[in-house]
Amino acid sequence: MSTSTAGPSAPGLGDTWARLTAGDLGDVDPVDLIAVVESVASRASALDRGEADLRRDVTVLADLGLFDVDRTPVAVAAAIFEAVATESLAVAFAAWAQRMTAVYLRHAEHRSEATERAYRAVAAGERPGVTGMAAAQLQAVGLGEVPVTATPIDGGYRIDGPVAWASNLYADSTIVLAANTENGRSLVLALEASDPGVTIQSAPDLLALNATASTMIGLNGVVVPGEQVLGEDLPTFLAGARAQFLILQAAFCSGVAARSVTEAERRLEGLGAFSAEEHAALAARHEHMHSELHRLAARPGEATLTELLLLRLAGTEIAPAATRLEAILCGGMGYAQGAPANRRMREAAFLPVQSPSQSQLRWELDRLGVAT
Ligand SMILES: Cc1cc2nc3c(=O)[nH]c(=O)nc-3n(C[C@H](O)[C@H](O)[C@H](O)COP(=O)(O)OP(=O)(O)OC[C@H]3O[C@@H](n4cnc5c(N)ncnc54)[C@H](O)[C@@H]3O)c2cc1C
Repeated sequence: MSTSTAGPSAPGLGDTWARLTAGDLGDVDPVDLIAVVESVASRASALDRGEADLRRDVTVLADLGLFDVDRTPVAVAAAIFEAVATESLAVAFAAWAQRMTAVYLRHAEHRSEATERAYRAVAAGERPGVTGMAAAQLQAVGLGEVPVTATPIDGGYRIDGPVAWASNLYADSTIVLAANTENGRSLVLALEASDPGVTIQSAPDLLALNATASTMIGLNGVVVPGEQVLGEDLPTFLAGARAQFLILQAAFCSGVAARSVTEAERRLEGLGAFSAEEHAALAARHEHMHSELHRLAARPGEATLTELLLLRLAGTEIAPAATRLEAILCGGMGYAQGAPANRRMREAAFLPVQSPSQSQLRWELDRLGVAT
């Protein structure tokens, strides 16, 4: 693998790229990444207005290898997510769900022909990948229970219950979710949105991220063959992917924060000078987060849980604060829906809500004895 990096002089991404100075890009050609990011930039507003199809952006990122878990290590994926999020959090978030679906399929305890096939289709961007695992995250740390049940039947399981939220939900999606059996086992399974008994609710109108096709899934007597069981112990299964999960979430938090910190910096003159201190504090916090992100992404297996939780918590705090500051410094235009600053502020409002939520992160850190 080459160690090429796109440095501050990379054309096209301007000051934000300089602020980020991308991490390891592995065998991804910086020129290709810049082309992808520019394409995302040109579509970000249309995506926000619901006038473009985000699946096209996912396909372009698939061509870059972002969802190929074997080819693109966490460090490289983190640099790509961060760069994409400087232009559109909607694209970065949907791509994250695609990558995590690929990761879960790849990490199946018993690989079968069915899971291999599903993995290849998701990794290639041919099928949208859905991870309906928020309730599973809560259950794994003892904060709740997955409301989906798995009842053993001949050759597999019957699956029933709701998934409150998931993204990338289309008729041809592959879905990974957790389900509990009556005798206390917690499974991770893969199924298709087209399977009989799967209902995708119509999507609610959101503050932002409407392009991510996020809504509720109903499961009513869905038959899942045994070979599509990815894991038979939820906490162990999630623990195996948790470092990557949190690092890549933090990557898109960092990207959107970097963009707003950069844009805000241009507006610190005149009355804007009164925000200079707040901006400097956010810029310093972001810089620290960005370097922690790439330090941990380079060796995800060595990251401690505390480091990972603190990294993701920083993302839930810095990105919303930076986008809000940018919008304020933009004045009236920052309040106009069509302004990029306004879009970033609306998009970043999701970050403290996304599972694991800011409250869950604080709760977990508190249990580890870490003050937040
Ligand atoms: C646009 C969008 C896209 C999404 N995409 C996905 C996706 O692709 N995959 C996915 O899995 N999820 C997805 N989600 C869900 C998301 O990750 C969060 O899980 C979800 O928004 C949390 O909302 P909730 O209503 O389920 O809240 P809850 O989880 O019910 O939490 C509500 C509040 O209560 C707190 N709380 C929860 N449990 C406890 C407890 N036991 N004790 C005390 N406090 C508690 C929480 O911290 C929070 O502050 C998406 C959500 C949205 C809005």
